[in-house]
Amino acid sequence: MQSRSSTDTPFISIVIPVFNEDASIDVLIPRLFTLLHRESLHAEVICVDDGSSDETWDRLIAWRSQYPALTLVSLSRNFGKEIAIAAGLDIAEGAAVILMDGDLQHPPEVIAEFLVKWREGFDIAYGVRRNRNQDGLLRRKFTRAFYRLFNSVAETPITPDAGDFRLMDRKVVDAIRRMRERSRFMKGIYAWVGFKSVAVEFDVAPRAHGKSSFSLARLVGLAFDGILSFSTAPLRVAMYTGAGIALAALLLGGFYLARTLILGIDVPGYASIIVSVLALMGFTMLQLGLMGLYLGRIYDEVKARPLYLVREIVGRTAASELNPTPDPALARFKKLV
Ligand code: UDP
Ligand code: MG
Repeated sequence: MQSRSSTDTPFISIVIPVFNEDASIDVLIPRLFTLLHRESLHAEVICVDDGSSDETWDRLIAWRSQYPALTLVSLSRNFGKEIAIAAGLDIAEGAAVILMDGDLQHPPEVIAEFLVKWREGFDIAYGVRRNRNQDGLLRRKFTRAFYRLFNSVAETPITPDAGDFRLMDRKVVDAIRRMRERSRFMKGIYAWVGFKSVAVEFDVAPRAHGKSSFSLARLVGLAFDGILSFSTAPLRVAMYTGAGIALAALLLGGFYLARTLILGIDVPGYASIIVSVLALMGFTMLQLGLMGLYLGRIYDEVKARPLYLVREIVGRTAASELNPTPDPALARFKKLV
């Protein structure tokens, strides 16, 4: 592994998605810049305001006059953390990009440790939470079970505990930027791109203000999302179950035929017929529903809408650079009419 030079000071980007974090901004920004200064880092800080409805944007704008290295992106509405991250990665120009939350749960000081790993030659340094105690027992149990299930069905196993707090080398960022899918299960995306990774442990701080926007119900939704995005195993399971039932029906049919031929017509079995009809209907509906889930995803993806829309950028990048280029097919069509 070739290590990166520690003498030159490469330009790095720090990307922070924020959604209704006005109470945290005033602590986060000065703390972050103090660290950057202390470590003599040549860096830009990109805050992506994911359609906040509070004072987040105004607070960010206020801080910009003091810290010109702050680049501010405001999305046209709330698109969700994963998409806010995608927007941040699109405009980040650093040789390495660090992702962190804006609620102070990810201590900025860990960035220095990420950089040490990056200079050693790792492409990705990801934060692993040393303490999960703040999560309830149910949440922890659920998370464990999900990872086990995901890794048994997905092509690329994910690393449990590796979240969005991480450093990624430019080549990793460019790889992720090429993945324009709408359902963005980030752990799956990180696993899919691969590259040389190393874990860095950190103590996750309690949320500074407000509460997490990821409830247990939303986590269950995310878990579903993750499996559907990265595995077609449920479809295979549905197919095997269907085949199994069909085989059982065939054997049973044969058995009844033989019995009727030998023993004559039996008393009609109303109960068994109703039960099997209902069971088969149930399985069929279940499988149709499952296919519908995948179909819905395909529909979402083929529409190929832009991942996000930008309302405003304050900082070095021109807004036109970020807003997606129009579909070339559409442009040709427009020329015709
Ligand atoms: N976030 C976002 N858009 C959303 C929800 C959250 O940009 O729709 C940001 C949020 O401001 C924070 C980060 O994503 O900086 C993590 O969110 P949160 O703390 O709610 O999640 P948790 O820490 O529980 O995973
Ligand atoms: Mg948080």
